[in-house]
Amino acid sequence: MSGTLSTAVNNTVDGSKAGITAESERAAIDLWTRAIHRLKGRLSRHTFQTYFEPIKPVSLEGDELTLAHSSRFMIDWVRDNLLDVLLQDLEAQLGRQCGVKFVVRERAPGEDVAEAPAVPDSTPQVTSPPPSEPPPSSRQLQINLKYTFDSFVVGPSNQFAVAACTAVANSPGKAYNPLFLYGGVGLGKTHLVHAVGNHALRQNPNCHVVYLSSESFTNDLIHALEQHRMPEFRARYREKCDILLLDDIQFLSNKKQTMEEFFHTFNALHEAGKQIFVTSDKLPTEIDGFEERLRSRFQWGLIADIQPPEVETRVAILKKKAATDHIALPDDVALFLGTHIRSNVRELEGSLIRLAAFASLTGAALTVELAQDVLKNILVVRGDKPDVETIIKVVAEAMQVKPQDIKGDRRQQNIARARQVAMYLTRRITALSYPVIGEKFGGKDHSTVINAEQRIEELMNQDPDLSRTVQSLFRRLSS
Ligand code: ADP
Ligand code: MG
Repeated sequence: MSGTLSTAVNNTVDGSKAGITAESERAAIDLWTRAIHRLKGRLSRHTFQTYFEPIKPVSLEGDELTLAHSSRFMIDWVRDNLLDVLLQDLEAQLGRQCGVKFVVRERAPGEDVAEAPAVPDSTPQVTSPPPSEPPPSSRQLQINLKYTFDSFVVGPSNQFAVAACTAVANSPGKAYNPLFLYGGVGLGKTHLVHAVGNHALRQNPNCHVVYLSSESFTNDLIHALEQHRMPEFRARYREKCDILLLDDIQFLSNKKQTMEEFFHTFNALHEAGKQIFVTSDKLPTEIDGFEERLRSRFQWGLIADIQPPEVETRVAILKKKAATDHIALPDDVALFLGTHIRSNVRELEGSLIRLAAFASLTGAALTVELAQDVLKNILVVRGDKPDVETIIKVVAEAMQVKPQDIKGDRRQQNIARARQVAMYLTRRITALSYPVIGEKFGGKDHSTVINAEQRIEELMNQDPDLSRTVQSLFRRLSS
């Protein structure tokens, strides 16, 4: 039961495999092996193992190195946080600038996911370890063992959410059912979902915990329908499930059939006294295209919110994270990061890792000056709106195209998409008029900007990956 999502993303790799010569593959392996060797000694073991080790070299064509990773989330993460480190090293090796392209590849059979990221992957997981067995491996679990209540820093912004989650983890199906947790991106919802799973399993190893994102639920359903395996699907989510943890339920919006199925799953579980815990980035009433009867179901239990952490909590999170990753983080640097990176915890953690990687790569001391320097793309000084050039540059880097292409006319899909995203963000961040934005994007007509804005709004409702990318860019540019 692995990889419902992988069929969708597999194409990326197959597409990129076509036309790869043995020579370019060898060149990529060679370059990558050397890069890995150099980075290994310089990054913390955790960062290295989590982010770099699972990467596989695919090809080196001209100045472009193609790398593959099995998780799109991790690719985004590496791109957001460690790309500069990587590019710097590759440039040093090749003696010229080198571009890096990432593709998603399917996990090879038998490949161990134990070293995979501290991030929930996209496949649904069902756990039912018999008590006599050794503790389940993370492959069986897909509950991330690292995301526990212990590793979660509690502050005023999240204490209500934590209290609700603790109650649910202590008495699944009895305390609050369903529990609906909502809050912005990167504030710890997924962490808490896993913490509930971990805690419940520790209390009762026989408990069947099912964790999955609503994207996986949707994919799994499609799969089951295609292969006429609905009875198995239903057994998995209804009978063989004591706690259903469904992450990011907002992505069910406008998916009629999936919602229908979830509605019945919900009823079956609720009637049987099984726990349902869902997260969302919005309140049930704010999710577009969410069925009324499903909305009202969520009123039966508890709706808890999670807010962005205050500066004290942000600093505490940084210190905890630094201690876990064995990063010697001076107090003034922690305070500097905590004061300036206010958007969310994911970005906070990312900045710490990026900074630590830079410090160890260059041998520089971890100081406030270094932080200012390394994070200048992320740190946007209060009140200082980025200009159009900066937006184009940041979007181009994140979406792996050239800034000139964004201003140009090429219609290749990835370029056109990056251009639309940059236009959309410019409109949202700078409030310039459509004609002025068109002008700044290489003299485009105002209607192109309007279309881009509408298209991205549409796509953000349909494509969770794009939605995440755009939101993360927006935060980075406007925090
Ligand atoms: P969300 O699901 O709300 O988008 P995540 O749960 O993925 O956010 O959190 C993003 C990252 O921030 C994770 O690595 C998580 O462990 C960390 N994090 C968030 N809040 C806290 C907290 N209060 N204490 C420790 N780590 C946190
Ligand atoms: Mg999440």
